[in-house]
Amino acid sequence: MKNITILGATGSIGVSTLDVVKRHADKYQVTALTANSNIDVLFEQCLEFKPEYAVVVKADKAEEFKAKIAGTAISNMTVLSGADALITVATLEQVDSVMAAIVGAAGLLSALAAAKAGKTILLANKESLVMSGDIFMQAVTDAGAVLLPIDSEHNAIFQCMPANYTAGHDAPTARRILLTASGGPFRTTPIDQLDDVTVDQAVAHPKWSMGRKISVDSATMMNKGLELIEACLLFNMTPEQIQVVIHPQSIIHSMVDYVDGSVLAQMGNPDMRIPIAHAMAWPERFDSGVAPLDIFGVQQMDFEPADLQRFPCLRLAMEAISAGGIMPTVLNAANEIAVEAFLNEQIRFTDIPVVIEQSMAKFSATQADTIEHILDADQQAREQAHQAIKAL
Ligand code: NAD
Ligand code: MG
Repeated sequence: MKNITILGATGSIGVSTLDVVKRHADKYQVTALTANSNIDVLFEQCLEFKPEYAVVVKADKAEEFKAKIAGTAISNMTVLSGADALITVATLEQVDSVMAAIVGAAGLLSALAAAKAGKTILLANKESLVMSGDIFMQAVTDAGAVLLPIDSEHNAIFQCMPANYTAGHDAPTARRILLTASGGPFRTTPIDQLDDVTVDQAVAHPKWSMGRKISVDSATMMNKGLELIEACLLFNMTPEQIQVVIHPQSIIHSMVDYVDGSVLAQMGNPDMRIPIAHAMAWPERFDSGVAPLDIFGVQQMDFEPADLQRFPCLRLAMEAISAGGIMPTVLNAANEIAVEAFLNEQIRFTDIPVVIEQSMAKFSATQADTIEHILDADQQAREQAHQAIKAL
């Protein structure tokens, strides 16, 4: 029996994770569930999975939550609040696995704490890895933690890597990664119409159902940019070894090209329960609840290069990883601020890359040796992004 903490339980990945847990109650038991403020969903989840701990980050919502559980079957549960409580439940002695499914930089310190505590980390929160880079990977190695990618592409690549491969190490016979992308909702929209796309259009992804932030990232293709950086770190490859491939059907989730010319692909229906179940069962396999792939229903698979003119965010991510140092941290922070402003209808869709580019221009790619340095760069980049938004 494994004990799991799910950070970001109330989100899209959190809900899918609990769906998989439910199918394997003989193998997984929930120790802690966390939410930022969505106490209604958290309450239902706690009633069903009976964790020892629940974290509600927002203090006022935590008080409301305590009142809500009084007199119910879960009244004995320990309820914590504040960002530090995320670290507490990510590092509990009895916890084996931590699902890192908080969105954005808010998930960094808890994911890093899980790494330092030597846990098995199921990493969905790509922003935490992008912003802290080598520091995160070093923490995993130093503590003997196990890092398993949940991002569907990286999970696919991991599955296509040689047997016994561990994240962060060299795979000398793997010469290239083909990182697939659906192209999002605006793959064929005339470029001159992108100025006017609405929030609803941007978050309506053609193939995947996801949280709002990653949905916008998919529409700008910043998601693929973050994933390119994520892949460099997880698989110890240079950006030149990673080719982005638009594959609108989203059946192949990425590929590894070997020195003998063999290309291995992982395929499946676009449902995050597949990578989640893979990582939870690893190195075994178990049922994810996803319907078998109907290969005859697929009929056709297309592949095309990514258009950097249409998707400037992808170009900016490529520039950030090439520059190195704190530049991916700056990219990520500026993107978070720009996406939030777009979701709040303060800026246009096409302003997102403008804000990021102007923010990046204010920084040089200095090396960061400590997490404090990373957090400092993150904070400064957020301020620059706010300035850039004001100046639009
Ligand atoms: P979501 O918005 O649906 O859920 C986010 C979760 O994080 C919620 O539980 C929320 O309560 C919590 N949260 C938000 N802000 C917080 C804060 N300040 N402090 C603590 N908790 C906070 O997001 P999602 O789509 O589930 O994505 C989660 C992560 O997984 C992201 O990093 C995303 O890039 C990654 N990911 C998601 C998918 C997907 O299909 N949804 C696929 C690949 C990777
Ligand atoms: Mg992905």
